[in-house]
Amino acid sequence: MRWDALRLDGGIGTGDGGQGEPAPLFARSAVARTFDTPEFRGVTFYEIHARSIINRVPAASRVPFEWTINPYRGCTHACRYCFARKSHEYLDLDSGRDFDSKIVVKVNAPELVRRELAAPRWGGHPIAMGTNVDCYQRAEGRYRLMPGILAALRDARNPFSILTKGSLILRDLGLLAEAAEVTDVSTAVSVGFTDESLWRAVEPGTPSPRKRLEVCATLNAHGIPCGVLMAPILPYLSDSPQALETTVRRIAEAGATYVTPIVLHLRPGAREWFMAWLSREHPRLVPRYLELYGRGAYAPKAYQERIGQTVRALARRHGVGRPAPPGARGHRSDPRPASPPAPAMTPEQLTLL
Ligand code: SF4
Repeated sequence: MRWDALRLDGGIGTGDGGQGEPAPLFARSAVARTFDTPEFRGVTFYEIHARSIINRVPAASRVPFEWTINPYRGCTHACRYCFARKSHEYLDLDSGRDFDSKIVVKVNAPELVRRELAAPRWGGHPIAMGTNVDCYQRAEGRYRLMPGILAALRDARNPFSILTKGSLILRDLGLLAEAAEVTDVSTAVSVGFTDESLWRAVEPGTPSPRKRLEVCATLNAHGIPCGVLMAPILPYLSDSPQALETTVRRIAEAGATYVTPIVLHLRPGAREWFMAWLSREHPRLVPRYLELYGRGAYAPKAYQERIGQTVRALARRHGVGRPAPPGARGHRSDPRPASPPAPAMTPEQLTLL
């Protein structure tokens, strides 16, 4: 691996040395570690000391947030469609199995966050987490980086948002609630579909969709606004009227503050991995996918619009974001009005991630 030589370009990171010179990504060499427990069998962790942790998103990204924190690279949640797969290639790792099983852990993330938030040049901007890989993936159960990060954000009263598929976020409920007392905190879980056999096939390392919706309900019940990114919606696999109806109904029952539908996009890295799976498991769908994604990473606009309209109509019908009657099971008890995450993301912006 070429990590010792890896450099960031000047546009990303606060650690560009201030001289216009790219800085080394990692301060020291990685320590490789494995754990002989069932949940981590076959997984190697590369513990590294990062130079910087609050990253500035390049302006060309056109996403609605400017600053991110990513304590991990790679993700054992192993979603076949994950758009972050390509980023593993920058480490001389592959975007397939290596992405799922070779996880980079920035072990000094909490202390870096605290230090960078205290720097005079830091402007208190909102910070998004979970925008590259999941900060509540299984590794977090062992490395426990998020409590230190959340405590630093709380102490600095710095607004932040978290997107996750991990139920581990509930471990940090107390810290999230404390932060929400002093600054803007928003959360979202992603649940593209609720079919359990499809979940096992496509998102094999994640908590079930049912569990994720329970997470959403619990967060809202504790006054931490949580919406749902209905992502990704998989053409011909999870886009039937019945599948969309079931998923939106369950999202509404979980008390989500909003639902944002996002159709699958297949960029390089994810594309090869997902299509290899599709060829094995659903070969008859391959020509139909080539029709949709033959010219690029995104499904045709007409298809995306049709799905978006359907989901929005279902959301209205099932009352997503509408306050539940007092005592209703699974709905939030917090009287605050439903609100989208800060910063809010439109489907168009999210597909650019
Ligand atoms: S949970 Fe998110 S980051 Fe992790 S593999 Fe799935 S899509 Fe990628």
